[in-house]
Amino acid sequence: MKALAKLHAEPGIWMTDAEKPEYGYNDLLIKIKKTAICGTDVHIYKWDEWSQQTIPVPMVVGHEYVGEVAAMGDGVRGFELGDRVSGEGHITCGHCRNCRAGRRHLCRNTVGVGVNRPGAFAEYLVIPAENAFKLPDDISDDLAAIFDPFGNAVHTALAFDLVGEDVLITGAGPIGIMAAAVARHVGARHVVITDVNPYRLDLALKMGATRAVDVSKEKLKDVMTELGMKEGFDVGLEMSGVPSAFSQMLETMNHGGKIAMLGIPPQSVAIDWNQVIFKGLTIKGIYGREMFETWYKMASLLQSGLDLSPILTHHLPVDEFEKGFEIMISGQSGKVVLDWEN
Ligand code: NAD
Ligand code: ZN
Repeated sequence: MKALAKLHAEPGIWMTDAEKPEYGYNDLLIKIKKTAICGTDVHIYKWDEWSQQTIPVPMVVGHEYVGEVAAMGDGVRGFELGDRVSGEGHITCGHCRNCRAGRRHLCRNTVGVGVNRPGAFAEYLVIPAENAFKLPDDISDDLAAIFDPFGNAVHTALAFDLVGEDVLITGAGPIGIMAAAVARHVGARHVVITDVNPYRLDLALKMGATRAVDVSKEKLKDVMTELGMKEGFDVGLEMSGVPSAFSQMLETMNHGGKIAMLGIPPQSVAIDWNQVIFKGLTIKGIYGREMFETWYKMASLLQSGLDLSPILTHHLPVDEFEKGFEIMISGQSGKVVLDWEN
């Protein structure tokens, strides 16, 4: 079958002919319809330090997808052939304390689809059926293909109560922008988003941010004055992984503020702990998506009118994957969707 794989320990990703994966007793075989390119795939493409240490070569990559159930193991219940599914890319162990308590997103033995085991950039993908999510009919394939990063946005945005609150989002990447849309949809007051990329700040404004701040040109504190915010932000969503953005967030939070941290800094980072202590801040790390509470909420948010369609800025046939990666690397995009069906 056709697959996009990391074939060599050097920058790049290659179209290859891979073995169709075999499915086990509890697995689904999924025929892939569409996939989307994640920041992680870009790291693997560039072959940065993290990928060199993490990705065995050769490896079929990718974990954002939608497809149809093409076959299943005898032990599978609750799915039928032809069901439209996406899936949770974190395969959990099932026997650690958190798994057994139903907190699978906190499994310490998580294995990543398209990172530690063969991924979704292929004609077929195998995952345990318990990792699949059956999609309601009224959710488009394009949106279903980005449920993985949308889930990161929803998990982070809903970590704390946003109703009537002033929210600061640092980082207008695809996930930050989707989080702005969610924050607005669930009833936040000001949804202020920062970045240094004008294209993405514009997109954030189209999708629900109430004020976009290019921190290379404007001071966040001036914007707060303009908005009449005398005290500070109630909730912070860190979605850049950039240390200076997090420092800025700590400085502009109100006392008692709550921060959900999704962005992954490149290395360990020093912060001003006085901001945390004297303001009584709460900081919560966010990893992945809650299985499957976040997935149900994603479907319900879309069904209750959340419009995510502007984030889908580019569609390409999979044979033009090189162009797709170039667009992602340029930063002049929302999500890039690759079509596997033509
Ligand atoms: P992204 O790299 O597309 O977005 C990061 C954005 O931060 C970019 O638009 C960049 O221009 C912006 N930025 C750069 N400097 C900034 C500054 N000084 N202030 C504000 N913004 C600045 O990434 P993404 O795919 O949207 O993901 C967001 C973050 O979440 C990344 O750090 C990613 O590694 C991380 N992530 C974490 C998880 C998890 O489970 N914890 C899952 C997915 C992604
Ligand atoms: Zn576990």
